[in-house]
Amino acid sequence: MTRHLFVTGGVVSSLGKGLTSASIGMLLEARGLRVKMQKLDPYINVDPGTMSPYQHGEVYVLDDGSETDLDLGHYERFTTTPLTRDSNYTTGQIYLSVINKERRGEFLGKTVQVIPHVTNEIKEVVRRLADDDTDIVITEIGGTVGDIESLPFLEAIRQIPLDIGRENCMFIHLTLVPYLKAAGELKTKPTQHSVGLLRQIGIQPDVLICRTERGLDVSDREKIALFCNVPLEAVIEERDKDFSIYEVPLSLQNNRLDELILKRFGMQSISPDLDQWHDLLHRLRNPEHEISIAVVGKYADHRDAYKSIYEALDHGGIEHRAQVRVQPIKSEDVEREGAERLLSGFDGLIVPGGFGERGIEGKVEAIRFARERGMPFLGICLGMQCAVIDVARNLAGLEGAHSTEFSRSTPHPVICLLEEQHGVVEKGGTMRLGSQPAILLDGSKAALAYGTQSISERHRHRYEFNGHYRNALEAAGLVVSGTSPDGSLVEIVELADHPWFVAVQFHPEFKSKPTQAHPLFSGLVAASVVRHAGSAWVTEA
Ligand code: GLN
Repeated sequence: MTRHLFVTGGVVSSLGKGLTSASIGMLLEARGLRVKMQKLDPYINVDPGTMSPYQHGEVYVLDDGSETDLDLGHYERFTTTPLTRDSNYTTGQIYLSVINKERRGEFLGKTVQVIPHVTNEIKEVVRRLADDDTDIVITEIGGTVGDIESLPFLEAIRQIPLDIGRENCMFIHLTLVPYLKAAGELKTKPTQHSVGLLRQIGIQPDVLICRTERGLDVSDREKIALFCNVPLEAVIEERDKDFSIYEVPLSLQNNRLDELILKRFGMQSISPDLDQWHDLLHRLRNPEHEISIAVVGKYADHRDAYKSIYEALDHGGIEHRAQVRVQPIKSEDVEREGAERLLSGFDGLIVPGGFGERGIEGKVEAIRFARERGMPFLGICLGMQCAVIDVARNLAGLEGAHSTEFSRSTPHPVICLLEEQHGVVEKGGTMRLGSQPAILLDGSKAALAYGTQSISERHRHRYEFNGHYRNALEAAGLVVSGTSPDGSLVEIVELADHPWFVAVQFHPEFKSKPTQAHPLFSGLVAASVVRHAGSAWVTEA
């Protein structure tokens, strides 16, 4: 029997529900349980793929090509749970499915309503994850309790215990216990109100995880327990972590959350194996090097726009015992102030993925700077396309070379629309998406980094390296080090006479883990460490 664990959030948004859910998943896996994870998002977009990064942060792409919420990135980084299209549903998707069923006449003339038709659809997508290979399904409900939008989701999860037994379900509510400076104390009232709202809906939480900047004392916990109708042991403190998000699972474990869940479900388990996790925190705490990496993109001012890239850089740092200081820089600022001024002090450069013309020239200029100065560089998706533009214009003498995404009339369209994209008009879910295999060139930097010649990586793009220019660009020094298995699509380019200049059409950041850094991020960090050591030597000399 698969058990269901639901995570809701109260009081305010941005409490780290995704991180907390991922941490729970990780703790349960560490105890030998088979976990699946899922997020239900209350907005009406069918998926976040059509949203601006300012609205939603990064779009996280899965192997199967689904474009999902960035919390799924936490799930994959913290656990081994297999994520698929079923791991993220939005209100839009739920309604789309209900309306399609209605059009097909599947409701046999009934009036179609939120309850039971929409709630049934929600219950079905939750229950779909329960199978013989799964001990616990963790479902995170997006939004904050009290939002009108999330009501159908909360109503649906209220009903699930009626269908499968209350003893097989557990509700965890993440809440905020703020510290009021003026009063000099922690305040439990917002938590009481939030749980009150949940109970009005018919959900009695089993566990409260209290986000707080100061430690809860026993009297705070007793008060919360009494007013919110939960046992004292189920009031769990989750102190703010200034150091690293990878501390969260260990702190929840210290507060015995995993034991509580197992006890609640009457499950036997092995004692948790957290060695790997302790080791990575030890490495993070005791770095031997320090490097600084510039990330030049359009959304440098948005914390979540390049989330997985920032995480993957940390992973590279963990592997090489380097503290990685990441500095996001707006590509438009590079256009205004020049690469020399903004990038000189850095040990490495990343130009991430993106869409739209704004800031493009700044990206190309940043890449040129890294290329000419021997600064380690990793280009990702649009970053790779910009690297090709730089090499075309400045090494191959193809004046005015550009991507047709930004200039239809360029004399040298070195980046052009993918063949399969001609005639595509709908925006949602229509890019080249998800995992694609690639073959690497023997002896190339990419092949050395991966330690293999056949890889699979996740994509999200409409434009590609224009094969007509391959010979000209290779003659100018560009090495095509990765292609689709049939050789038709260029997936990786690099430069031979440069310490680390590697640019990829896919998104390696989605497959990096704290316990296993992605080879390309590891490679960038390693090269940046070498550069940093070299420049320190030069300064001293
Ligand atoms: N805009 C480019 C394309 O569609 C790059 C996409 C990306 O960076 N994700 O091909």
